[in-house]
Amino acid sequence: MAESVELPSRLAILPFRNKVLLPGAIIRIRCTSPSSVKLVEQELWQREEKGLIGVLPVRDAETTSVNPVLSPGAVNDSGEQSSKIPFNASDSHKQDAKNQQELIHWHTRGVAARALHLSRGVEKPSGRVTYIVVLEGLCRFSVQELSARGTYYIARISRLDMTKAEMEQAEQDPDLIALSRQFKATAMELISVLEQKQKTVGRTKVLLETVPVHRLADIFVASFEISFEEQLSMLDTVDLKVRLSKATELVDRHLQSIRVAEKITQKVEGQLSKSQKEFLLRQQMRAIKEELGDNDDDEDDVVALERKMQSAGMPPNVWKHAQRELRRLRKMQPQQPGYSSSRVYLELLADLPWQNASEERELDLRAAKERLDSDHYGLVKVKQRIIEYLAVRKLKPDARGPVLCFVGPPGVGKTSLASSIAAALDRKFVRISLGGVKDEADIRGHRRTYIGSMPGRLIEGLKRVAVSNPVMLLDEIDKTGSDIRGDPASALLEVLDPEQNKTFNDHYLNVPFDLSKVIFVTTANRIQPIPPPLLDRMEVIELPGYTPDEKLKIAMRHLIPRVLDQHGLSSESLQIPEAMVKLVIQRYTREAGVRNLERNLAALARAAAVRVAQQECAVPLSKDVHPMAESLMDTRLADSGEVEMEVIPMGVNGHEISNAFRSATALVVDEAMLEKVLGPPRFDDTETAERVAAPGISVGLVWTSFGGEVQFVEATTMVGKGDLHLTGQLGDVIKESAQIALTWVRARAADLKLSAAGEINFLEGRDIHIHFPAGAVPKDGPSAGVTLVTALVSLFGQKKVRADTAMTGEMTLRGLVLPVGGIKDKILAAHRYGIKRVILPERNLKDLVEVPSAVLAGMEILLAKRMEDVLEQAFEGGCPWRQNSKL
Ligand code: ADP
Repeated sequence: MAESVELPSRLAILPFRNKVLLPGAIIRIRCTSPSSVKLVEQELWQREEKGLIGVLPVRDAETTSVNPVLSPGAVNDSGEQSSKIPFNASDSHKQDAKNQQELIHWHTRGVAARALHLSRGVEKPSGRVTYIVVLEGLCRFSVQELSARGTYYIARISRLDMTKAEMEQAEQDPDLIALSRQFKATAMELISVLEQKQKTVGRTKVLLETVPVHRLADIFVASFEISFEEQLSMLDTVDLKVRLSKATELVDRHLQSIRVAEKITQKVEGQLSKSQKEFLLRQQMRAIKEELGDNDDDEDDVVALERKMQSAGMPPNVWKHAQRELRRLRKMQPQQPGYSSSRVYLELLADLPWQNASEERELDLRAAKERLDSDHYGLVKVKQRIIEYLAVRKLKPDARGPVLCFVGPPGVGKTSLASSIAAALDRKFVRISLGGVKDEADIRGHRRTYIGSMPGRLIEGLKRVAVSNPVMLLDEIDKTGSDIRGDPASALLEVLDPEQNKTFNDHYLNVPFDLSKVIFVTTANRIQPIPPPLLDRMEVIELPGYTPDEKLKIAMRHLIPRVLDQHGLSSESLQIPEAMVKLVIQRYTREAGVRNLERNLAALARAAAVRVAQQECAVPLSKDVHPMAESLMDTRLADSGEVEMEVIPMGVNGHEISNAFRSATALVVDEAMLEKVLGPPRFDDTETAERVAAPGISVGLVWTSFGGEVQFVEATTMVGKGDLHLTGQLGDVIKESAQIALTWVRARAADLKLSAAGEINFLEGRDIHIHFPAGAVPKDGPSAGVTLVTALVSLFGQKKVRADTAMTGEMTLRGLVLPVGGIKDKILAAHRYGIKRVILPERNLKDLVEVPSAVLAGMEILLAKRMEDVLEQAFEGGCPWRQNSKL
């Protein structure tokens, strides 16, 4: 090894430009310049035994490191001794500046090197010879003198590194031992860090243990990328201790830089984008699932989806479309933006009932009728019409009859009739609420290009019900409106049109869906808002409100059993007597339908449920508690030894048992419980009398979407310019009626002697204010005409209107009373308010047949042809001014 190398006194010098060969380092160089080729040829290639050369660093900016080009002027080819070149950098500059085109700064110290491997090559076509040499650095030397030999240099040198003997002696130095230990520790640390990154450091570890420490320092430093200056200083450091500490410092620095680099990489890795991370995790998850034999991953999901799609029975064109979409899905990564929307879409395609249908059975009309009867009380005409409809369907299943449309106030059984139709036909029932739908997209869906797009309500409903032939209830079809977002009614037109609904086009679905097997039933509160083309497709069946008697029967036969059942009660635990139901109808509800009645009954049932539930806890407990049982019975059985036998069948002697056990019997609703649960009565019959306590107030009957209603009209007057003010939720028609009424009264003021009746002269300088209180429900229509006139006449005549009289009728400017609609609902409303007299237009006489006779029996119906007839009936003792008027 190097320690034993004997250095000759002269060495051929191979200049290393900007690079240092340190002892122990191995380097591979390619010699191409004539001088270096010559050197290698003469000093290494042609020698028998492998010779040594000296490697000397030079500093030059312009030539390559292994091809030291000495400027021609500097080279003297004449012989070894012919010229001596001073190598001391700065001096040589000045001296040779004139002759040399470029300057070479020779370093004073170099390293003797031996060739481990030599190979010779001839470049074609120039025939130039090149050498590739693998050199090993051996030991340091210093240059005494440098001289040219032909094209290369020869240097006289002296050895700098210690010999083996010197080395052995130096190794005893405790400082050196400490230093070398420190160096080795740092080097070891470096190795272990490197070990984590690459596995090839094993060799270095062996080196650390076998190579002497002074060589190690050089070897380690040579393997780092350090600056030329640092390499030089390492080369220059001959003192072993200094060299070791320098090497330790360099190794340590290298170690630190690796650590910093590692930290940065970790940070960068931490910042891997979320999707990359997700992707990696998914890959891992897939691998884990594969290991576990669990196949529930995305790809299998897609396979399952395809299977589901195959069994969905799509028509061929839809299937093709779905396949295309599925292919797209397969090419996507689950993290990709469009993946989930594409998947949701395909799931919908697979879920839709393309073929799946409820089995159609032979329709049994009698069973259908029984079903309708058992579900609904009364409604004879309506049920008859439904049976007719079903009969036609039975005879001609594909008959394109009109769509049934149940019209009536809330809670009259529209929805439940539709669901009974479904039950009678043995089909599934799906209800689609159209209330407040203003956007066409609600019916037809949004195109898939929209973010958050969805199918329309119909397709959604079909997906839910999962059959292609359900009974579909389009609820509150009168509540759809059109605005800038399109017209839902036109989409509905397509839905209800048997010609078009075979290929219903939902924007989201984007493939036609056949709706022709669906049986559509619609409901509405009022007919007027339904667009005429839509109304044209439907057959309207009106369901007016119920009379109190009908309500009572509905409650007793249908609502109470249902409510009890819903609350887990039975007639043994809760009894609601008829009288109490009547009270609930009279005092707590004033509605056309039975929805609030049902709600109130449910409230009673809830209250009872609490008691029953508590009692269920209490009863078994009391059986176990002997002292209590005994105290109950001891008065009767004090001297008996068989107390326990008597205690158990206590229900038999229920009347004798104290309050503690009374709850075991049925809870019977009484008035006190009504008040406790439902609160104080909300309505009573005296309301009308109280409200019509002053002149200027009259009672009208109007028709709203909640059915018939009693409507008070209040008029007052004050100083002003003769303007008419109207308040309340009113439509345009009612405002016009008010204007007509005022005009009529003003025109007849003299005849009616109104101006003379008091000090008020309302023809001059007085504003009139008419108010429709309780205006939460919007009202419109001409039927308030007679009521408005009556209020005004009462105001200006300063005479009260009869509190027991309500009226309805349109009035012309000439005072004729015209017929109006909704007579049955209006009379029922009057009946609910306890009104005894109703003034109707004469021509509405025919409508009275619809009114239940029980209601009519308790009511006086007064028919009016002209306004004067109304006034005659509206005031106590007739129209007081009639005698004087010329009417
Ligand atoms: P709508 O759809 O007209 O607003 P629903 O069909 O929801 O009213 O009816 C409200 C409740 O009243 C339902 O529980 C219904 O069963 C019941 N109901 C209404 N009319 C009758 C009737 N004639 N016989 C039995 N129950 C009825």
